[in-house]
This record gives sequence, C-alpha cells and structure tokens, in this order.
Amino acid sequence: MRVTTAFKRLMDLPGVTVSDVDFHLAKVVVTVKLRSAKLHCPECDYTTKARYDTRPVASTWRHLDLGKWRLVVQAFLRRIDCPIHGARTEGVPFARANSHFTRDFEDLVGWSATTMDKTALCRLLRIDWDTVGRIIERVMETGLDPKRLDKLFVCGVDEVSWRKGHSYLTLVSNNDTKKFVWGKEGKDTATLDSFFEELGEERSAGIEAISMDMGPAFDKSARKPGHATKAIICYDPFHVVQLGTKALEKVRRAVWQDLRKLPDKDVARRFKGARWALLKNPGDLTDNQSVTLRKLKRRGGDLWRAYVLKEALRAIFAGDLSEDEVSMLLDRFCSRAQRSGLKPFITLAKTIRKRKAGILAAVRLGVNNATHEGLNRRVRLIINRAYGFHSANAALALIMVTLGPIEHILPHERQPTADP
Ligand SMILES: [Zn+2]
Repeated sequence: MRVTTAFKRLMDLPGVTVSDVDFHLAKVVVTVKLRSAKLHCPECDYTTKARYDTRPVASTWRHLDLGKWRLVVQAFLRRIDCPIHGARTEGVPFARANSHFTRDFEDLVGWSATTMDKTALCRLLRIDWDTVGRIIERVMETGLDPKRLDKLFVCGVDEVSWRKGHSYLTLVSNNDTKKFVWGKEGKDTATLDSFFEELGEERSAGIEAISMDMGPAFDKSARKPGHATKAIICYDPFHVVQLGTKALEKVRRAVWQDLRKLPDKDVARRFKGARWALLKNPGDLTDNQSVTLRKLKRRGGDLWRAYVLKEALRAIFAGDLSEDEVSMLLDRFCSRAQRSGLKPFITLAKTIRKRKAGILAAVRLGVNNATHEGLNRRVRLIINRAYGFHSANAALALIMVTLGPIEHILPHERQPTADP
C-alpha cells in the first residue's frame, strides 16, 4: 500500500485525496486535494464551478493526533464569489467555516469540554483554554438540535453574570426537557426580543407559560405584540426566595457597618464569619456555622429578625403547599415584613404583593423549583470554568454544549466516510 493511500484511510476525511505525506520534527503534514470540482461557500449552501481568481490559498487544519504525532492537514484552496457572502476561501467538507481544526478534532474538544477539567483537557489535546472557547462556539453553532425551539410550551428565562457582573447572559430553558434551548449575551428587553424574533410569531403564540425573575425587562419583552402575549407570566419561587436572601444580606451589611464603628474591633471580626451561617440553608451548615447561628439568635435584634423572615419565606416554597396555602402564607409574610421596620424587607413585601398573581401561577402550574435551582447551580459551576475565555459568547457555548439539546458524537462513533 502506498503511504498516501494509507494516510487517506487513517485520517478518514470526507471529500479529499491525499497527495503527499511529510514527516517533520514532531508532526506529520499531510497534503490533500479536494475531489469536488465545484466550489462551496464556507457559510452557506451556495456552490459554483466558477473561481473568483486563480490565486491559491494555503490552508492548514489540525486533525486528531496520530499516536504522539500531531497531524496537520494542508491544502491549497480556491476562492469563491458567493452572492451573499462575497469573495471567500472555499469551504471544505471536513472542517467548519473559519476553523484551523478538522471537524473530528473539534467534536472531540466539544465533548471533552463538557466532561473534563480545564487542565486535563489542555494537556491531553495540546491546546490552550481560550482556543477551547473558540472551538466550542463553532460546535454550538452547528451542533444544537435544530428542532429545539419547537414544542416550547412552558419555558423559563434567566440571567447569569459572567466575570463578576461585567457581562450578562440571558438563557431560555424548556421546562419539559429541562434543557437550555436559547441564549444570548445581555439581560435587557432587547436581548429577549431577539429570542422571540428567532422563535417567530406562530411558535411564540404557542407558549402557555413563561417563568422569569421579577424585574421589568423580560416581562416587557414577553408582552410585546407578536411575542408571548397570551402566556401566563410566572415568577419562579426560586427567584422569590433569592430576593429574600438578598434582603437579609442588606440587613447583615448594615449591621456590620455599625459594628465596625465600635471601639472593640473583635466584635466586628467575629461577626464577619456570620455571613454563610445566615445565608446557607440550615441543613447545610457546618458545626461551626451552627454555633455562630445560635449566638446570633441569642443576640437577637435586626439581624435575627431578618433571618427568621428569610427562612419563613423559604419554607413557603418548600414544594408541599397548595396554591391557597401559599397565598395565605405570603399575605402573612408580607404583613410581618411590613411591620419588621427593616427597609429591605418592606421593599420586598411591596414587590411580592405586586407580583403575587404571577408567583401563585408558578405554584399552580408546578414550575419546578428544584429543577430550576439544580440547573442554576450547574450553570454557576460552568460559568466559573469559563473564566479565561475571550468572550461571553464562549461562556455561553460552554453552557449550551453542556446543558443544551446536543448529541456529542465522537469521531470513532461516526460511520466511516463512504469514500473508496
Ligand atoms: Zn455564502
């Protein structure tokens, strides 16, 4: 067997013949020729036999390693004049547009990014983390199930911050499949508008309920003509409880600022560790935190009252109460919060009263708190891993290739190409 034939079989790339194989210091360079006489636009389905010019464009792609050897595919490509995309270097059947990696290599990276930690992946595949970000952006573009926006009846809208509040992502999940089906950088009305634009009027009208946080931005978008005007807006209990936690945190900070002004600096320092004791669910506390919590109880005052209010709010949404019971307990919570004299809780009571119908709708329709919280926790872990990526879109890609409707197929799981 000739060495070019052997490499053609080994690499199993569609649509090419191998014309040369060269061994370098730590890599093998394989020169290939495209078999198709037609030129393909890299971005769309346009094909033509006409070349834009006669200038050949030298291009290389990294393919799957061959043992310890890096394998580089090289080709001289032609240029095409697409009526939509203009003069471009022709697309190849074995790699995504604008990539210097073969599709096989990128698919391997895409799957690894969802299952391996950063250090292991970069060492094994010999690429840097930022490159991983660029690759999975392309995997997201082409890999997500194109039907993911069909049959969307109950969905949830969420925002997450990336790089500690410098940038935000808006995510839409399908309540039935528990997967994220859409995402975009930003967190305002216009961001969610583009979701409805992509969905189109017909599918938007099919949305029966949509859960979101209690801020005005998403609500405004959902109510625009042509969007989900008939959908019931639900305020996810998860977000209600989150607001309770935020109110408690505000009270805690105010108390701490007061303590710092005292001459005895020890009091403030001891108090600093109280944060987690207060914010965590009682069941998740360490022994030390439980002791701290008992001390805070004995001290009483604003902080303890705020804590009791937050826990009362959380208990309402434990998931075992009927809509009527939740309604009654929410009223009771609001009057207690109002009487507490704690500003953050007075504001919270106002918000809850205003949004009560939507909160109860979430309880009635069973917009599942636990699932939502679970997805949210996983998103936060992914966002932490995405640190070091060049853009919010790469962080979004890591979320979508991990928690979106995508089937990762590894090169050896795919049918071999039919080429002889
Ligand atoms: Zn094109």
